[in-house]
Amino acid sequence: MSLIRSLKGVGEKAEVLFGKLGVKTVEDLLHYYPRNYDIYEAPEAIGSLVTTRVVAVEGVIERAPTAKKIKNLQVVTTSIRDATGSIPVTWYNMIFLQKSLRGGTRCVLRGRLVYKGKQLTLEQPQIFMLADYDSLIHVMQPVYTLTKGLSIHAIRKAVGQALEKTEEYQRREYLPAKIREKYELAEYNFAIRNIHFPKDMDSYVIARKRLVFEEFFLFLLAIRRLKEANDITKNAYPMEGSKETEQFLNSLPFQLTRAQERVWREIQHDLRGEKAMNRLIQGDVGSGKTILAVLALLEVANHGCQGALMVPTEVLAKQHYESITALFLAHGVEKRVILLTGSMTAKEKRLAYEDIATHKSDIIIGTHALIQEKVVYDRLALVITDEQHRFGVSQRELLADKGEAVHILVMSATPIPRTLAIILYGDLDISVVDELPANRVPIKNCVVNTSYRPQAYRFIKKEAACGHQIYVICPMVEESESMEAENVEDYANKLRTELRDGITIGVLHGKMRPQQKNSIMEAFEKNEIQVLVSTTVVEVGVNVPNATVMMVENAERFGLAQLHQLRGRVGRGKEQSYCIFVSATDKKETMERLKILNGSNDGFYIAKEDLRLRGPGDLLGIRQSGSMEFQIGDIFSDAAILTDAAEAVSQLAAKDICLEMEEHAELSRYLKEYMEERLDRLNL
Ligand code: ADP
Ligand code: MG
Repeated sequence: MSLIRSLKGVGEKAEVLFGKLGVKTVEDLLHYYPRNYDIYEAPEAIGSLVTTRVVAVEGVIERAPTAKKIKNLQVVTTSIRDATGSIPVTWYNMIFLQKSLRGGTRCVLRGRLVYKGKQLTLEQPQIFMLADYDSLIHVMQPVYTLTKGLSIHAIRKAVGQALEKTEEYQRREYLPAKIREKYELAEYNFAIRNIHFPKDMDSYVIARKRLVFEEFFLFLLAIRRLKEANDITKNAYPMEGSKETEQFLNSLPFQLTRAQERVWREIQHDLRGEKAMNRLIQGDVGSGKTILAVLALLEVANHGCQGALMVPTEVLAKQHYESITALFLAHGVEKRVILLTGSMTAKEKRLAYEDIATHKSDIIIGTHALIQEKVVYDRLALVITDEQHRFGVSQRELLADKGEAVHILVMSATPIPRTLAIILYGDLDISVVDELPANRVPIKNCVVNTSYRPQAYRFIKKEAACGHQIYVICPMVEESESMEAENVEDYANKLRTELRDGITIGVLHGKMRPQQKNSIMEAFEKNEIQVLVSTTVVEVGVNVPNATVMMVENAERFGLAQLHQLRGRVGRGKEQSYCIFVSATDKKETMERLKILNGSNDGFYIAKEDLRLRGPGDLLGIRQSGSMEFQIGDIFSDAAILTDAAEAVSQLAAKDICLEMEEHAELSRYLKEYMEERLDRLNL
């Protein structure tokens, strides 16, 4: 496999930047699919422009641009005119335009229309000569997820080169011909080329179908392989329900819901049964999955064994650790709980390893640190992964391998229909917590556009004055040249001037160091921070019952399922909670889609409605599933392809699961590479 450096124009610096995107080899680059496409439309008449969006106009620059400095921004302005009208144009930090762009120049400008006061203005447009723009019209230009320092043009160029050197990188088709025929799948090299630079819309659709199928197919084949490797295991730790667990359950300040009770019985049944437990607990946010995990862990501890709970973030690990410790303390449970995370000091870790190995700890809670080589457990009988879609498939296996024939429990809040769950978690039994605790006050929702912000800020002030706390979610960490969306850094600064008096604002995002994140989250839990401006990192499991407002900026950029997860962060206490979904566009379809959230608090229903409304035809739209992320496939909108892939895998497995037949040689090679290189990078 060739390193990305072998491409012309990719130097040492670019190599590091590509590395940040997980692209190390040319192969990786070819699989770095576009996030979206830019389609250049024909220029529009200036006189007919009304709404805010990206447009192209063709005309004459009316006068030499003028520049002035506002704060630390260089602002260059002029205007452009065609036969139907004229519109002001603004650029930021492009002072050279003052010299290079002359009045009277005929050109095409393409940029975003924004309102400056009441005046529609073209902002930061790209400048094209007429002929250049003509050749771009209706061509789909790939848009990639970027990283600071690596431009969209650099990635397009690198991909273009990789595609050009076809002799070198071309691979032979590895999907068996019969499968390709049956499911009408395009040839591999055609698909790769057309996913990056589609010849036209039809080619894109055909290419995408092949790659989605391939992704699901390889994934399902890989988990089938892993499963074959560790057959059904006998229950090495059969456990009858203990009195102590029963007592703990009865002493809780609340009664289990009927759904929780049913799932708890299913867990007990497994623990007692012939085979080791292998169970998925699915339940909407706030349905109370944690207490089920606690009961299972306690049960195991009461039988002299250890249990481990692995969660995807330090914040969540700490929170679980603290709430379980407090719960045990309050109810006189003497089992010992320990926390193990990556950000602990070497000394702290060493002490933890010792406690675990000598069985001073019964229940171990932590992040990936739990599967480090140095951790040796003693009679580990149960492993639980919370919000497991964030873990690589084999990480779950690694944790299980820390014990022998352990019971496995997987908890997930991703609302996937049962038929899909059976395909994706083929090896697990499924329990559903389909009921919320009764004491909940339903959340009040509103879907608004950005003009509502002043009201929202007043409302936030009022809630903060009552001692409540607020989340504000932005899609991005920092400003970016490729995407127009609110970012956490700038937004927090804006809020600081908007809210002022005595309200503390904190910032949280995924690029911060774990320790930084911990201390911010801790401060928020202690109500030392009233308003937390964050990316979707808070989406996963965080529980701060005092938070009553969730405001989401650029809500149009999120899948409904993900918005629903975010909403699950409030409404966790006794107080009335509110969600404000702010859309940066007034587009009718967008507003209608978002309004589904108004109508229901049921995650399954929302995922279904979202799909119905957008239909599988909406291929260029945002992803639905949010957290259940394949690289290109979407388990909801591509459900039909997922079903096909599952069928193909079953048929193949019946014939030749070891892929030993001559016609499967290429597939066998490819699958091996996939399992080594790519399987664990999925965010499942
Ligand atoms: P999730 O399923 O999203 O992980 P949690 O387990 O965090 O939800 O539970 C959310 C909140 O509901 C917690 O504060 C928990 O103590 C509380 N809770 C759980 N079960 C019940 C119940 N049966 N009655 C009342 N409150 C409950
Ligand atoms: Mg949870």
